[in-house]
Amino acid sequence: MSDLRFKSVEEASSRKAVKVELPKERVDKYYAEKVFNRQKMFEYLPRPTYEALIKSIDNKEPISMEVADSVAEGMRRWALEQGARHYTHWFQPMTGGTAEKHDAFIEHDGKGGVIETFTGKLLVQQEPDASSFPNGGIRNTFEARGYSAWDISSPAFIVDNTLCIPTIFISYTGEALDYKTPLLRTLNSIDKAATRVARYFDPEVNHVLCYLGWEQEYFLVDEALYAARPDLVLTGRTLMGHESAKNQQLEDHYFGSIPSRVEAFMLELEIECHRLGIPAKTRHNEVAPNQFELAPIYEEANLANDHNLLLMSLMNEVARRHNFRVLLHEKPFSGINGSGKHNNWSLGTDTGKLLFSPGKTPKENLEFIVFLSNVMAAVHKHNALLKASIMSATNAHRLGANEAPPAIISMFLGKQLNEILDSIEKNETDSIILHGKEGMRLDVNQIPELMIDNTDRNRTSPFAFTGNRFEYRAVGSSANCASALIALNAAVSNELTEFSNRVDKRVAEGEDLDKVLLDEARENIIKSRAIQFDGNGYSEEWKQEAKRRGLDTESSAPLMFDAYLNPKNVEMFEKVGIFNKKELEARNEVKWEIYSKKLQIESRVLGDLAVNHIIPAAITYQRLLLDSVYKVKELFDTETARKIGGQDMVSIEKIADHLSAIKELVEKMTANRHIANRKPNEREKAIAYHDTVAPLMEQIRVHIDALELMVDNEIWPLPKYRELLFIR
Ligand code: ADP
Ligand code: MG
Repeated sequence: MSDLRFKSVEEASSRKAVKVELPKERVDKYYAEKVFNRQKMFEYLPRPTYEALIKSIDNKEPISMEVADSVAEGMRRWALEQGARHYTHWFQPMTGGTAEKHDAFIEHDGKGGVIETFTGKLLVQQEPDASSFPNGGIRNTFEARGYSAWDISSPAFIVDNTLCIPTIFISYTGEALDYKTPLLRTLNSIDKAATRVARYFDPEVNHVLCYLGWEQEYFLVDEALYAARPDLVLTGRTLMGHESAKNQQLEDHYFGSIPSRVEAFMLELEIECHRLGIPAKTRHNEVAPNQFELAPIYEEANLANDHNLLLMSLMNEVARRHNFRVLLHEKPFSGINGSGKHNNWSLGTDTGKLLFSPGKTPKENLEFIVFLSNVMAAVHKHNALLKASIMSATNAHRLGANEAPPAIISMFLGKQLNEILDSIEKNETDSIILHGKEGMRLDVNQIPELMIDNTDRNRTSPFAFTGNRFEYRAVGSSANCASALIALNAAVSNELTEFSNRVDKRVAEGEDLDKVLLDEARENIIKSRAIQFDGNGYSEEWKQEAKRRGLDTESSAPLMFDAYLNPKNVEMFEKVGIFNKKELEARNEVKWEIYSKKLQIESRVLGDLAVNHIIPAAITYQRLLLDSVYKVKELFDTETARKIGGQDMVSIEKIADHLSAIKELVEKMTANRHIANRKPNEREKAIAYHDTVAPLMEQIRVHIDALELMVDNEIWPLPKYRELLFIR
């Protein structure tokens, strides 16, 4: 077994960078060449079809069957020219990631052969045999099947000779079975709600768009080493492994140059992204060894999210060509940083204004304060829900585990904004002078001009204001961003609607609009100030303080999911028309089920590795020690033998202690698993896994990691952290 480890280490360390073929043309020539975007629509569709389609896309209306047929024809022609032979409805099941079912572009021709075809019906609707996708019983409760339908706001694209059609996945009775459907619903609701508020300031506004700029963190591991770690292969993270003597202490990886093998991978990935219309822009090392980040230019949220999901599968594929494996798990290695996916989130009008951007005039600043105060109110009211929306079995290792970010949702606003809110709260807006070099005397209309100092940053905050957007940092690296966006958009649109209801009522009663807007913003700020925290989010004091402030401090993932069924959240989702209670219940079933399954797999893998890899290796070493002690005793008198073999005797006993602890704990863990599996419902099962299985995994690991330090390096069967973590 240790042979495999040493072979893999040798293989990994002898590899050279794979040469990447650079495109001959400039990036603007091949950018989005694999996307059926507006330019291709214009080229491949009859003019009336093109116009009808664009109108539907812009107005978010469905397309007619006639238009669909014509679009399908043009899309097929383009795809075949690009070498595509299959098409697939590409959708986002609740398991996370994406799913596809490929079909060839062929039909019987009635003469014993086939013809190439692709009709509007196949474009708009398909019935994947999806009975094996988790649906929390929705399909059993409502209807037997689900179907998928093209989301016309996201263009089709080609990957590996397959035309991929981004689709929603719903049951026949209309319940969402995926992440895309509810995301689209929240984008509509936030459009409506925010437009209504934005029109107080500018009647020209007809739509508000939601933007997302994600930053994808990930680890790379050499594929030979990966293959020698069954835990990585089966669970995506290392279930054991002693910390490397050198870790991220020196922060030399963050500031260091990118290793050439990795640079080649990044280059090829970037080119592939650009061909697929993903505006990849930034790439750099992250804090931990072997950790990196890729970020695009932000886009409209639905498209940005599709692009993120596409990127995650693209990364896997490109990494293989470079003899790497991508680890998207939130915490592949203990003792060093985990990976997140910061979601930079903002709202902007169709007139081109970012609504979280402080403006130059008092009116613009009032608008900024109004939107900011509504986000504060929404995040405050629904902080438990927002946390639930980013929680998962994998992200649980990151949140609350004493690293970025804590398992409490709070909002960072920065010093300057903090002072402004203070003055608004105290109704002193006509007497404050702002600090800093851009400090400015306040103007009429009672709102000072805001200049947000972008250097004022807090890295421990899960939800931070960063100048013209919010950075939702708690999202996990492997997550579908939609989950976080659905909760956030729904909560904010509900808040904005309630806000305008109050404003309209008061204005109808004869009050001055600007005064009412400021008043209502002040009310929001006063009632939700508890959500604001600019201090150290990792500190123990903050946990206590957050509890006093009434923020949710629950740290068990299965219990966090309860927030989805909290009456105030159910009411909110129903009011904005995103989910009904049944859907929320069904979706929670899926969350609990996935949680338990992940832990079940991890626990089994850990048990197997402990029993079949670690214990035998430790016993082999223990025998060597025993042999040596025995021989020493034969050769020397008692006194000398004790001197020579004494340390070995101690080691033999220590190893024996670890071995019996591991055996005992594995047995207990297995028994607890069996008890958990028999729980009557998914929630209780998940709780049992959290409370009685996960802690034993931690304990087992402690003993294994201690053995790793004792056992002869030559015998240890699994690649060690120091071997996994430093790509040359
Ligand atoms: P950081 O310092 O956190 O790495 P960057 O300036 O590199 O921040 O931006 C990170 C991400 O934020 C990028 O994807 C960028 O496109 C995105 N972003 C910038 N402005 C906005 C905005 N107004 N709305 C949404 N995303 C944005
Ligand atoms: Mg960032």
